[in-house]
Amino acid sequence: MPLRAKVASSVSRTAAALSRAAGRGDGSVIGGWIGLKIDPELLTHLAAGRSVALVSGTNGKTTTTKLTVAALEGLGRVATNAFGANMPTGHTSALAKAGTTPFAVLEVDEHYLARVLDETQPRVVALLNLSRDQLDRAKEVAMMAQMWRTALAAHPGVHIVANADDPMVTWAALASPAVTWFSAGQRWHDDSWVCPECGGAIERAHGDWRCTNCPLRRPKPDWVVEEDGVIDPTGAWHQVHLQLPGTVNVGNAATALAVAAQFGVRPADAVKRLGAVTSVAGRYAQVERDGRLIRLLLAKNPASWLEAFDMAEVAPTLLSINARDPDGLDTSWLFDVDFAPLRGRRVLITGDRAYDLAVRLQVNGVAFEHVTSFADAVAAVPPGRLEVIANYTAFQDIRAELDRVN
Ligand SMILES: [Zn+2]
Repeated sequence: MPLRAKVASSVSRTAAALSRAAGRGDGSVIGGWIGLKIDPELLTHLAAGRSVALVSGTNGKTTTTKLTVAALEGLGRVATNAFGANMPTGHTSALAKAGTTPFAVLEVDEHYLARVLDETQPRVVALLNLSRDQLDRAKEVAMMAQMWRTALAAHPGVHIVANADDPMVTWAALASPAVTWFSAGQRWHDDSWVCPECGGAIERAHGDWRCTNCPLRRPKPDWVVEEDGVIDPTGAWHQVHLQLPGTVNVGNAATALAVAAQFGVRPADAVKRLGAVTSVAGRYAQVERDGRLIRLLLAKNPASWLEAFDMAEVAPTLLSINARDPDGLDTSWLFDVDFAPLRGRRVLITGDRAYDLAVRLQVNGVAFEHVTSFADAVAAVPPGRLEVIANYTAFQDIRAELDRVN
């Protein structure tokens, strides 16, 4: 690396370490920020010579990144932004910290995909899904798909691993000449009823989809989730033993296997490593407290709420909603979520915006009780399972009460 980049990298590591020592989180954002101030091309220098995989999409990025790291670790140590700092500052920090390892798997915020493609020149990009998120600031879904499509067209040498079940992702990925398609299902359809190519209606039947007005249709997937396993492109089925709940995570595992295959890792070897992943930055973690077995699920937009309902057991369930800066300030998205799957369960609600949730649940015909704190919720339910579904900062608050469970 040039001298300036070496100095920037060293200062970045020191700043991150100081921030950690001061108890201000993992320090990756401030470390990367300072490094990029000293050398704006630091990320490019740090990525040069490494085989990089990027993982992007609205939901499942952090989990799929962690599963992909696990799948690749047979090759050696893998650099990654494990704490979800998914903008260029976080990528810079992760690579500055990683030393000389030739492999990196980076989670990328959807809005930054074009820039991070330019700066890291990745070998593989995994595209998971696109749906509405953070209404007060995120781009509208079709605009995001167009941004991805333009970015991918500028990098024809990059191999794309893309979700064939998501019409928006499919259309963006078709800009690339080299695509491996996976089928991981799509539970949330309400951002892809209109064809991104021609504006025609998208028709769905039995897991397939097609535009009724132009040739855009679901590509034939190379990797397919079947029951609790994954079929690879040769037709072999691999059982996936995950410690993470839900069909959605078998889909994330299929994506990780497809990315690993691009690094020459055989699925039969990679699949064994996936079972070692127990939780992802506190998500899916299970904690025992006063006889209650508490499980934490993160749900931050309508599509991820549908997935959380699929993962949660039929048991008392605490929902917690905040609307602080990282969550997005607009809670009107609560009306996009159908909470009907919770009918018949005991539902407790809390969080800064519990009353917004209360109105939504009443309209939805879901009975609930309001509690003012997490501790009150634990005290209110009998010993046994308590499912907790919370959006971003609400999740972090509860995680802090449980002593920063990982
Ligand atoms: Zn069309």
